[in-house]
Amino acid sequence: MSDVIRKGWCPDAWRPMMAGDGLLVRVKPRVGRLIRDQALALADAAITHGNGLIDMTRRANLQLRGVTESGWPVLLERLMALDLVDADAVREKRRNILVPPIWRQGDDSHRIACDLLARLDELPPALPGKVGFVIDAGAAPLLHDQPGDFRIERSDAGDLMLRADGRSTGCAITPSGEAEALIALAHWFVASGGAAAGRMARHDAPLPGWATGTLRAAPAAILPWRKGTSYGLPFGRIDAALLARLAAALPPGSGFRTTPWRILLLEAPVDMQDDGLLTDPADPLLRVDACPGQPACAQASVETRDLARHLAPHMAGRLHVSGCAKSCASAAPAAVTLTGRDGRYDLALDARAGSPPLRAALDRAAVLAHFGAA
Ligand code: SF4
Repeated sequence: MSDVIRKGWCPDAWRPMMAGDGLLVRVKPRVGRLIRDQALALADAAITHGNGLIDMTRRANLQLRGVTESGWPVLLERLMALDLVDADAVREKRRNILVPPIWRQGDDSHRIACDLLARLDELPPALPGKVGFVIDAGAAPLLHDQPGDFRIERSDAGDLMLRADGRSTGCAITPSGEAEALIALAHWFVASGGAAAGRMARHDAPLPGWATGTLRAAPAAILPWRKGTSYGLPFGRIDAALLARLAAALPPGSGFRTTPWRILLLEAPVDMQDDGLLTDPADPLLRVDACPGQPACAQASVETRDLARHLAPHMAGRLHVSGCAKSCASAAPAAVTLTGRDGRYDLALDARAGSPPLRAALDRAAVLAHFGAA
């Protein structure tokens, strides 16, 4: 079991991370699609080898929690057989591609993502594991606020463009040359010392001329909510048994689309009522980010999600409750942020987790009282 990484890693199925509730095994559905039979088998695997809890991440991936060390090798084999994990660990590590969840077979987002998937071996070996690609090639960009180092986007003139994260503009690309351009930009990133910066947005070397342009992305859109096919997951979590019930209700050949917004999309309508599913797009829990906190995470000194549930109805904007300053649930600023520190909560407004607090070292009762939620 020496391959099992204990802490401080960007985990994937080949290199799971030890959390407070057991191993965390990340699954990256290809082009964010989980077909019905894959979902049924994944749910069974989560129950058999883990604690039956599955989290959908901000990169639209799925994480099986509470996996035992003895169960992990068997789980890995099962995930590979389901085509949910690559048989090559290096390719699996590089397979960080975010697409808009409403892509259609053969459209630009799907085509470019498949091109890139087929060429992962061409990426530079020294590319940091957290680096990722965003392919947001629909008519209206959906992923504008999602982090991703190397990006294909739709320009305001309707053409496709290449943009490096952290740069406000991008350049035109030749039709069908999108994957080539992404790979070339990844090679430039490594060759120009980007690995030391870690992420494209922090790498301030001037871009090469061929990747420089003045194109701006088209105005952003938001994911449409459709009753029966859009289900919110509180804190991004779904019970494996519930996932199995949803999958069983889907017609054969259909499946799910994962999203970075804690919303699970179904490819066919299913009428399901369950406490674990949010069916109202105005549900306050959809405006909340909260990491697992205590006791699931060993780095947490505070409980997070129960407190977030109590506070959510009292919030006008986004709420972020983070078990520590690492801020796993969201890197973005929130209207209200509570960060755990030494068993208490630091409160900050319009801030990221770990920002200088407005009020420090509050206990749970003081937090609830501050927001009139006592
Ligand atoms: S942010 Fe939350 S999940 Fe991440 S390390 Fe801290 S306590 Fe753990």
